[in-house]
Amino acid sequence: MKFDSEELRIKPNTQANVSNRATDATFGITEAQALKATKKNYKAILALQDTLYAGADQSLLIVLQAMDAAGKDSTIRKLTSHMNVQGCHVAKFGKPSDEELAHDFLWRIHKKVPAKGHITLFNRSHYEDVLIVKVHNWASTDVIQQRYTDINTFETLLASNKTKVLKFMLNISPEYQLSRFKRRLDKPEKNWKFNPGDLNERKLWSNYMQAFNSAMQHCSTEAAPWYVIPSENRWFRDFAVSSIVRETLEKMDPKYPEPDFDTNLYQSDTIS
Ligand code: ATP
Ligand code: MG
Repeated sequence: MKFDSEELRIKPNTQANVSNRATDATFGITEAQALKATKKNYKAILALQDTLYAGADQSLLIVLQAMDAAGKDSTIRKLTSHMNVQGCHVAKFGKPSDEELAHDFLWRIHKKVPAKGHITLFNRSHYEDVLIVKVHNWASTDVIQQRYTDINTFETLLASNKTKVLKFMLNISPEYQLSRFKRRLDKPEKNWKFNPGDLNERKLWSNYMQAFNSAMQHCSTEAAPWYVIPSENRWFRDFAVSSIVRETLEKMDPKYPEPDFDTNLYQSDTIS
């Protein structure tokens, strides 16, 4: 089995063309292969997270963006259920409060980035300010353009502080989304997830895809790359996301700290 995450990465200053990418692609990988590899990835991630936490020198921020019902919640559930909760956090960004709107758009975001040694997952993020806000023209073209620059500056600041930023767009088709909405209506325990307002956003699908393309073209950088994840096969989605998280942590190469005591003085058979 061969999988190259580079195929999913958006190279800086290139068109992502999200609408032309297969949302059910599996790159020749079978479900059985993916499940086996995903399990191994989770095990490796847990071990790497332990070292990251102990080293307390670097951190990882994972941003998830997608159309409604694409599976952000279940991606987060899968990843976090294989991590040590002590070093792992989730922040969800909905409609900004009055207090948040009274500040710059990165104010509420910056407060939630991971501390050294920690991993944080963002369920939606500062990218909403160049996605839903752009689609609805709640800000001018100039303001949106300025925000791409501000986002890159902000993410560069995080990189300088040893926070690695990974950004995933869970890509689905409008047909798949409709099937997930129907499921939310048909299953009583999923009714609470159905939001009639999502049907209006759905009508703006191509505008959303343009906004995603533009955000990724401007803000997929070497320091903070965007990946477009084909997300209609959940086993493939989890395999791709866990593979990228794992290889990123491997590249970060966290290290356990050196003991701050004299190891000659303290040995397990001499202490009492
Ligand atoms: P689910 O998929 O389970 O419905 P959700 O992420 O859609 O979860 P909701 O509380 O239903 O969560 O929706 C949050 C809404 O807030 C989204 O429509 C999102 O686009 C919107 N939102 C997030 N950030 C901003 C922002 N900065 N400005 C305006 N709207 C925002
Ligand atoms: Mg919603």
